[in-house]
Amino acid sequence: MKPLFHTRLVNGTRGDPALYIDFQFRRRALMFDLGDVSRLEPRRILRLSDVFVSHAHMDHFMGLDRLVRLMLGRGKHLRLYGPPGFIDRVGHRLHGYTWNLVRNYAEPFIVEALEPGAGGRLRRALFHAREAFRQEDRTAPSLPPGTLLDEDEFRVRAVQLDHRIPCLAFALEEKVHLNVWKNRLDEMGLPTGPWLNHLKHLVRRGAPEDTPVEIAWQDRGGGHRAIHTLGKLRRQVLQEVRGRKLAYVVDAAFHDANRRRIVDLARDADLFYVEAPFLNEAHQRASETAHLTAAQAGLLAREARVKRVIPFHFSARHTGDEARIRAQVMAAFRDRPAG
Ligand SMILES: [Zn+2]
Repeated sequence: MKPLFHTRLVNGTRGDPALYIDFQFRRRALMFDLGDVSRLEPRRILRLSDVFVSHAHMDHFMGLDRLVRLMLGRGKHLRLYGPPGFIDRVGHRLHGYTWNLVRNYAEPFIVEALEPGAGGRLRRALFHAREAFRQEDRTAPSLPPGTLLDEDEFRVRAVQLDHRIPCLAFALEEKVHLNVWKNRLDEMGLPTGPWLNHLKHLVRRGAPEDTPVEIAWQDRGGGHRAIHTLGKLRRQVLQEVRGRKLAYVVDAAFHDANRRRIVDLARDADLFYVEAPFLNEAHQRASETAHLTAAQAGLLAREARVKRVIPFHFSARHTGDEARIRAQVMAAFRDRPAG
């Protein structure tokens, strides 16, 4: 089965947080957090459609300049999501530069910023590059509370954690994975083609079983046309597999309210990216700065019953001790003493 996305920590486990999530077959990528991205190649940056920023501490948000610089004049539309107050911050960042020449760019560039508003509803604003990033407030799509993005193939949800400021944690959930049985298509005398995407779209949308699906194609024998019901095609040519889930948690104090929210968000995740900046013996420092220790990160992974935990965002004070941090996380995750 081809995975829908691949993940990569742009700066490894020690540098600024930035998790690049590549939907390579869609020529598209998402990113969780936007720290220093000077190591991320331009062609990868240009694939970004949506970037989710946990909070505006500099190591999570300073990469915006590089995105804007590369996307200017390229007909891009970049969506940015962040905690309450984020739209203003995006505006301040963009208005920190002079833009008197941008009218000359051939293609428009739009930055869209979204943040949770009153009653769980999103607030939304557009910033137009050609108009010196003038802000235009817009109504946001109506989504269930906590949902930031909802598409055919996946959704992204967020919860607000306490880091002495609101800090968002994210979950990326694939919807049901639909694979095509090529041999069954052959048996039915049907070709591959764009109609399969249409069929998958109908299935994901929950269209009725008796919905007719038309398939038209050309080959050496001329034009052909077939019509089958959605239900028949679904049973015969599609295999439905549970989608993968990724959860991402950084910069959170360890207390009951955060713990409940994190465990709810990350429950049964296949991949759990979690900050583990501090060794267990530095717990004092961790609690002073509203961060997790290695054992706390591992315990959260255990309580959420995730399949795989990837600790990162290691503090510079533990340079050289990364293996010990990892061992402490894994010990708590597996509920065994650290060796
Ligand atoms: Zn922070």
